[in-house]
Amino acid sequence: MGHKSGFVNIIGNPNVGKSTIMNALVGEKLSIITSKAQTTRHRIMGIVNGEDFQIVYSDTPGVLKPNYQLQESMMKFVKNALIDADILLYVTDVVENINKNKEFLDKIKKTSFPVILLLNKIDKSTEERTKELLNIWKTLLPNAQIIPISALESFNIDKLFDLIIELLPEAPAYYPKTELTDKTERFFVSEMIREQILIHYKKEIPYSVEVEVEEFKEDENIIRIRSIIYVERQSQKGIVIGHQGKMLKKVGTEARKQMEIFFNKKIYLETFVKVNPDWRNKTIQLQKFGY
Ligand code: GDP
Ligand code: MG
Repeated sequence: MGHKSGFVNIIGNPNVGKSTIMNALVGEKLSIITSKAQTTRHRIMGIVNGEDFQIVYSDTPGVLKPNYQLQESMMKFVKNALIDADILLYVTDVVENINKNKEFLDKIKKTSFPVILLLNKIDKSTEERTKELLNIWKTLLPNAQIIPISALESFNIDKLFDLIIELLPEAPAYYPKTELTDKTERFFVSEMIREQILIHYKKEIPYSVEVEVEEFKEDENIIRIRSIIYVERQSQKGIVIGHQGKMLKKVGTEARKQMEIFFNKKIYLETFVKVNPDWRNKTIQLQKFGY
């Protein structure tokens, strides 16, 4: 058999575990993961290379009805993932409402490429309930092959990988075989800071924040990074910085630890907070931030 290659796009509702699945399949933490919806804002590619195959995974934001321009851009990433897939991984989990997003499911029924439905988080379910859900999904999405998995416990990830290889079309590699992702080091740095913001702040703060990396300078022994955290309002700036700068310091320290693991190098990280009024609704700002 010849060389196999293709785009395997991961989509589904918010919080079902799409990013956890992609990281498990790629074996690297490319996508940030939190318990909050809308953690993933971009389409993030993770590439797995073998001698005779190349799988280009895409993690995407969760499907939602847009309320502001940033979310419209997020949904464009999802739409595109429906267009250029060779294989679609539609992710659901054992807790989400089955009737959520019926319209979107109808779109998936009509696709011409193979669909694999992943019933995730089965570690949270009983065997009986899992069986019941598998049967329901069989009737809801008859064109899909269904695999129950636990991304968190890496259960059935190998089985999923085997099926992907089986379904992958014969094609030459789309990217150099040394490549792991389409995103830059700066992107991952900004995501690691945003992950800490999602973890440490409540309510609207995480959704009002964008992170930009102004400087990324790699020396032999250390990487020096200067980043800006943009908020929408002056009052949010105070919250992000916190009393005597304690919150921002915590975010910086935690993010730096993550970066040191990711890059396997010592990191010097500086973070500043700036107000950028209503950036989520400004086309030019959104383009500058890569949306
Ligand atoms: P996404 O929004 O679909 O990308 O979901 P994430 O990958 O960010 O995960 C959302 C939440 O579900 C996080 O708290 C994960 O730790 C959790 N999660 C993901 N996969 C599993 C799983 O297999 N079992 C359990 N119990 N939790 C999971
Ligand atoms: Mg995600």
